[in-house]
Amino acid sequence: MGSRTRSLSAARACRTRRGTIRTHAVPSLRGCRSLFYAGALALVCACEGARAGGVDGGLAEAGAAADGAVGDAGLAATVLRREPALAAMPVFDPPVPRPERISSTFGPRWKFSISDYDLHPGIDYVDALGTPLTAIGDGTVEGVYPTGSAQFPEGGNVLVVRHPLPAPLWFHGRSVDRIFAVYVHLDAFAVAAGDTVTRGQVVGTMGRSGVTDYVQLHFEIRVQTMCSLQFQTLAPTASCVTGFDPHVHPFLFVGGRDEDAITIAEIPPAPGEALALRYTAGRGDLDLDVIDTDLGTLGFVERRGLDATTLARLDDFDYGWLRLDPRPFTSIDERLVMELHFPTRPRYVEMRDVYGKGVRVELAR
Ligand SMILES: [Zn+2]
Repeated sequence: MGSRTRSLSAARACRTRRGTIRTHAVPSLRGCRSLFYAGALALVCACEGARAGGVDGGLAEAGAAADGAVGDAGLAATVLRREPALAAMPVFDPPVPRPERISSTFGPRWKFSISDYDLHPGIDYVDALGTPLTAIGDGTVEGVYPTGSAQFPEGGNVLVVRHPLPAPLWFHGRSVDRIFAVYVHLDAFAVAAGDTVTRGQVVGTMGRSGVTDYVQLHFEIRVQTMCSLQFQTLAPTASCVTGFDPHVHPFLFVGGRDEDAITIAEIPPAPGEALALRYTAGRGDLDLDVIDTDLGTLGFVERRGLDATTLARLDDFDYGWLRLDPRPFTSIDERLVMELHFPTRPRYVEMRDVYGKGVRVELAR
């Protein structure tokens, strides 16, 4: 808990339109306003936090239609849906038997092993050493790369399986028709390059080969090309060049929990900042994609607003108009927290998931 947050948890009860009661914890902060929303039949529950003197302020509640504006004590919010950067095609299966066991999700994170930020290009699934890993669909083994390979110097044993899409998708202004499933840190391989695989076939086992602190499957989905934009920048005439970075959120193809229950709270800004927000997601919402404001937009799936030509730039979360501070998250944490720090106060902030669903808060000047 950073000194800037000074949060006290308080249990709040909110009533949904269906009449059920859900209780959740929201930060109780001096001057803070919090927003909670859930699902299409949205529950929106806004509160003003502790007032001067340390006594909690009143709790304002309002139901909201899926696209309805919600009035509350000074914080206008809308639950919305927009076109996603890439349409979900969840016709594939997860590569692990227990896909809910996630230690890192796609996107900005605090990486423990380097004590620094990185933009995580996949999902880390955790389980026991030797857990069978399976093909997400019918496909062909593109490559098998043992520990020490030039292609994946830190990945240990890496397996890549190519899967055709059942129908083309539109991505970065072009039609795409295939994905690559990338399995990293394997203990053992069960297939060889060129093999045809079928959905559910065991292709290897979970391990801790390569640079990792624990047994996990680092799993990526790359769209259309195996070549990162970093590689394409270094080798612009390579046959794999597409002009875009291929890493996308694996949930788009292998599915994942999608509960639409997040909290956005205002927290005290640091010196020199105009606004600071805290985004909190539970394990049902490890699917953030877009942060959109009138000052700038970030889109992690599309690499919008990001410079993916070098890892150093991709992993630098200071975008000038926004500085992201994802807090540490592990396989046992129930909540994923990221702070957003703005040197200039935006007029609005939208945060949307990979399916295009999200929430918009209007921020008075
Ligand atoms: Zn990883």
